[in-house]
Amino acid sequence: MDVRLFKPSLGESELKNVREAFERSWVGFGGQVQRFEEAWSAHLGGANSLALNSGTAALQLAVQAFGFEPGSKVMVPAITFAATAMAAINNRLVPVFVDVDERTASLSVQDMERKYSPDVVAVIPVHYAGHPADMEAIVDFARSKGMKVIEDCAHTPGSRYGDKPLGLWGDFGCFSFEEKKCLTTGDGGMLCATDSDLLERVRPARWLGIDKDVWHRFSKERERKAESGEVPPWYYEVTMPGHKFNMNDLAATIGLAQLERLPAMNRRRSEIVKRYLEGIGNTNGMEPLIPFEPERYTYQIFGLRVDRRDELIAALNRQGISSGVHYMPLGRHPFFREWASPCPVADRIWTSFVTLPLHPDLTDAEVDRVLEAVSLMLVPA
Ligand SMILES: *Cc1c(COP(=O)(O)O)cnc(C)c1O
Repeated sequence: MDVRLFKPSLGESELKNVREAFERSWVGFGGQVQRFEEAWSAHLGGANSLALNSGTAALQLAVQAFGFEPGSKVMVPAITFAATAMAAINNRLVPVFVDVDERTASLSVQDMERKYSPDVVAVIPVHYAGHPADMEAIVDFARSKGMKVIEDCAHTPGSRYGDKPLGLWGDFGCFSFEEKKCLTTGDGGMLCATDSDLLERVRPARWLGIDKDVWHRFSKERERKAESGEVPPWYYEVTMPGHKFNMNDLAATIGLAQLERLPAMNRRRSEIVKRYLEGIGNTNGMEPLIPFEPERYTYQIFGLRVDRRDELIAALNRQGISSGVHYMPLGRHPFFREWASPCPVADRIWTSFVTLPLHPDLTDAEVDRVLEAVSLMLVPA
């Protein structure tokens, strides 16, 4: 494929940081991780952040933080990546697939209200493509029922929505730095919360339940004991069930370089989305995937809704342009079938979804090539 669907934008500044990590000979869990956490918290403003090795890990820890009764239910939108539902299942909870809003393809508040039962303990809205889910209504409803709100921010680099960034509307915001996302560390993720106590509750779980960080940084009494020699310097305790979910210095240092370039990368994404929208105009037989607002929000995904979706994908393919489908409703996957529930809107709209190339290094000429290929296919033969 000569026009890639997603491509990380990596350059000299990332390479320079990696070289410095090599020179320090420190590529594991170290000081760069903390630096990246602090920089990301400042980027969002008013956040506390825990750097992890994936967005999936962030979702998993967010759910774990509340210690829900096994078998309780967690609402997730029908149209999302598998990771959103796995966060519930891997915590021995039951996913409830909620239908999506016809226009934004994010969680439908109406269906959330319809499918609510007293054993629903949390909801994980996804800001699909980077467009905000209806957070006012979702948070209002969730609070009225005592539910926790975990935002899946994998498609957004923290665009502002109303008076705060996406990721700080709920109890936790979970970001992904996987290679296709708006900011990449290869693989990586960030768990964010305004409430620092909530974040501290899961901190040990990112590293096998070992509270070495906590030991030294958060307890004066323990720090005193360590310094006075009452406990030896090698001493640590496992205090809770945990995972190997920490970010490493190599990833974090790439993230620090990416974060500096993020405003420019976001601007380029918005320019490309605008160019696509202008190019599509009012062409019959297709419309934008969602109501894109590139002046306000950064998008990880651009796409269309077209009647002959699979034909378009084949035509693009023949011209070396890669495309995709985000996503087939979760209930249609063999593993998730047992939790399937009626999601008529998702079932109807996803068959028209096609994702087109979008990444900061995409050139105007490439965007025009994609637009031409799309319009050619739509002219009746
Ligand atoms: C990418 C993605 C994730 C998971 O992120 P990873 O960093 O790949 O684990 C979760 N949810 C959605 C919607 C995603 O697109």
